[in-house]
Amino acid sequence: MAFLDYLGRVDFDAYARTAVDIVNAPLESMQDLAALFGEDSWQTAEATERDLIAFRRARKRLREVFEHGSSGRDMAAVAELNALLEAYPMQPRISGHDTHDWHMHVTGRGSSVSSELLAGAAWGLAVWLCEHGSSRFGVCADERCGNVYLDTSSNCCRRFCSERCATRSHVAAHRARKRAAETGATLAPAQVGVGEADRAVVTA
Ligand SMILES: [Zn+2]
Ligand SMILES: [Zn+2]
Repeated sequence: MAFLDYLGRVDFDAYARTAVDIVNAPLESMQDLAALFGEDSWQTAEATERDLIAFRRARKRLREVFEHGSSGRDMAAVAELNALLEAYPMQPRISGHDTHDWHMHVTGRGSSVSSELLAGAAWGLAVWLCEHGSSRFGVCADERCGNVYLDTSSNCCRRFCSERCATRSHVAAHRARKRAAETGATLAPAQVGVGEADRAVVTA
């Protein structure tokens, strides 16, 4: 943990959550970037079209980390993260927009918004994997959604990105059960599993 202490206020969980946000965001236009980072943020002020393209390219690879991890492909998740750490290297630096506002940046002076945030995102996910394991990377079980998430549930059983998706799947399963009961058909196991247990652990 010495390295984390050395970096002071850098919050790697926050960086891991940034990776989630980048994967789940639409990213079609500069407007999407502004929505992602906030209208008044330095990221929005400094981002260019090149950053938008860089985010779009990187997020396919970030998503793969979640897909590997949630499917039990631990080694593949590690390999992809190591490749991302190499592609988006960290170069920690103290910065202050005001002299009494010293804080850490993870890339060198003059780096683009995308380099800074992607280096942080890769690092955040790497720290997350080492601390919690790749099985804590999740992809929403509702295939119409496909959002990724970090599973912070106590028993590692979260299956949906949000309460909304959990509820929607629960309702769909309930309707399927009802239909099956009405027609007298037997239930496929897949239609039974989505229930109260899932709803209880989903907290976005
Ligand atoms: Zn700064
Ligand atoms: Zn979802």
